[in-house]
Amino acid sequence: MAAVHQLQGVGTASTALLEKLNIFSTDDLLFHLPRDYEDRSTIIAMNQLTVGRSYLLEGVVKGVDFPPGKRKSMAVLLQDDFGKVTLRFYHVYKALTDRAKLGHRLRIFGEVRVGARGLELYHPEIQLITEHTPLPKTELTAIYPATDGLTQSKLRDYVKQALKQHSEELPELLPKKFTNGYALKQALHYIHQPPVDANMLQLAQGAHPAQQRLIFEELVAHQISLLARRAYIQQIAAPSFVASQKFAQALLASLPFSLTAAQKRVSTEIMQDLQQNKPMLRLVQGDVGAGKTLVAAIAACHTLEEGWQVALMAPTEILAEQHYLNFKKWFEPLGLSVAWLSGKQKGKARLAAEQAIKNGTAQLVIGTHALFQDTVGFAQLGLVIIDEQHRFGVDQRLALRNKGGNNMTPHQLVMTATPIPRTLAMSAYGDLDTSVIDELPPGRTPIQTVTIPLERREEVLLRTVSNCMAGKQAYWVCTLVEQSETLDAQAAEAMFQDIQLRFPELNVGLVHGKMKAEEKQAVMQQFKDNTLQLLIATTVIEVGVDVPNASIMVIENAERLGLSQLHQLRGRVGRGATASFCALLYKHPLSQNGQERLRIMRETNDGFMIAEKDLEIRGPGELLGTKQTGDMGFRVAKLERDNHLLNQAHYVAQQILTADPASADALLKRWLPEAPRYAYI
Ligand code: ADP
Ligand code: MG
Repeated sequence: MAAVHQLQGVGTASTALLEKLNIFSTDDLLFHLPRDYEDRSTIIAMNQLTVGRSYLLEGVVKGVDFPPGKRKSMAVLLQDDFGKVTLRFYHVYKALTDRAKLGHRLRIFGEVRVGARGLELYHPEIQLITEHTPLPKTELTAIYPATDGLTQSKLRDYVKQALKQHSEELPELLPKKFTNGYALKQALHYIHQPPVDANMLQLAQGAHPAQQRLIFEELVAHQISLLARRAYIQQIAAPSFVASQKFAQALLASLPFSLTAAQKRVSTEIMQDLQQNKPMLRLVQGDVGAGKTLVAAIAACHTLEEGWQVALMAPTEILAEQHYLNFKKWFEPLGLSVAWLSGKQKGKARLAAEQAIKNGTAQLVIGTHALFQDTVGFAQLGLVIIDEQHRFGVDQRLALRNKGGNNMTPHQLVMTATPIPRTLAMSAYGDLDTSVIDELPPGRTPIQTVTIPLERREEVLLRTVSNCMAGKQAYWVCTLVEQSETLDAQAAEAMFQDIQLRFPELNVGLVHGKMKAEEKQAVMQQFKDNTLQLLIATTVIEVGVDVPNASIMVIENAERLGLSQLHQLRGRVGRGATASFCALLYKHPLSQNGQERLRIMRETNDGFMIAEKDLEIRGPGELLGTKQTGDMGFRVAKLERDNHLLNQAHYVAQQILTADPASADALLKRWLPEAPRYAYI
């Protein structure tokens, strides 16, 4: 391995540009993999073209004209033995007009589109052909992720040098039987400079065995990083709670129902974790309404009984407030104090809350992200519960270790609001053990889902209103074509006013993301208390809000939302014994994809199945939040495509970590150079 500036032609300017792409060494360059390929090796006949793809073409100029228009432009008609295309140029200069003359033979490269005169190419690269023009290059051309000022041809040249001079030095880090028969060096050669007979489509899809070999290695490196992080956290001591279950039993006795079998099983798994003197790292998954909160409350009981504090963090103020009210109702009768901390709290109230947390009079603390700010110190924090909307950064979880007190790390329990397919969970939460609550409490009637075109909105509205007048409760979710909380809020506001005017006797409320937290909470509380029957909302009500009496859900422009989001929204109803109903209003015409998604929503209520479909259709960003998926930082792997490799990658990662820590470390350096390193390896 060498520094990039040791390559020929790489000066200070190029070094700086390469750094922008996180390329510092020849190794980095070798692992800067093509995002696509072009075939410039074969001249294609003009009757063999597919719109949207790039081709190398050769033909004779049969016409040149300068169409009238605001901008000077030039159209060139190029013909071969099989057909013709039009080349369009909106920047006309002498070198171009010199080349594109009637009767000249041109070789061009560019993307084919449909234009006014049939197939057209805009600003293709053009070359004048003479007898001496050599045949095209004999390999597929790699297209790299690049940056302004660093051309593809420069990148190609640097990679070529790195391959020649430095690929021999790359150590093999994977056991041979997982390499598809490709030594690392061979795989990289193939991927950077595929031979001319390589299968373009296979390469473009990342399905070639040489690519799959690298993908597997990358997945192994990611699993190693998760496992190493887990091992690192678990070597820090945690308090062990062997509770008599005094509080847990009292809590259960106070409820009008008993735990489902699934809740019991998961509670036992958690209790066993809490008895260890290493930190629990557990993810609880369960479909909407499965009763995750109660499982968390039982875990809290064990911790509180031993005199340690519990922190519960929710992603939004609405949810945090709801948890606060719930836990107060459950815990205060047991003589346990429940405190509240939010980002909006200021001045005296804030100070008092922080004081109580610090001196331990606040036993269970509920809040938003504010809980984890540096100013918040706990007397002795034994358990952290994270009820999350999307993935809470792994490194944020790490930061919690400092909050434990007595040099101990608190136990960690993470509850996902969205069911996550197993393979995806392995990547996003590979450092956590997983429990699944795979059963809904009894007595729920399934939600009936219908899809209705937007033209029938008025009809749906009238029926909803009359149901509300008859005592039912309904959510009406406004989303617009453009996804923006501000615009959605305006639409919700407008509808709210319209309804108040038209149906003065109806008790209607409004919540959206632009309202103050207290205003939102006041409205939610009224809805919960059944003093409001219709709640007009934006998607802010998506996660976790629990009003068992609500039984009607209407979602406008449903085709715009992701499946998991729709499932979350729909999950706000169907929580009680009354039959529930969900209407998805959509706008014509529906794309194929839109039809497919609405069909899935009509046909299933199973959150895990919906999540699998979402992963297929929209990729992991939809399920985990785009930023978080970006943070996973895969270079070649794509979870929606490669998840079948994950099980084995996990297994191989474990083997390498135990048998060959030096290789494990080298894999991390190669694939995740920027990830924090833990003392463990
Ligand atoms: P989620 O898993 O979506 O977070 P919640 O914890 O909000 O679900 O629970 C949904 C509703 O089900 C709540 O009203 C809760 O009180 C109720 N619930 C929880 N467990 C049971 C049970 N075992 N039997 C009946 N109702 C339950
Ligand atoms: Mg919940």
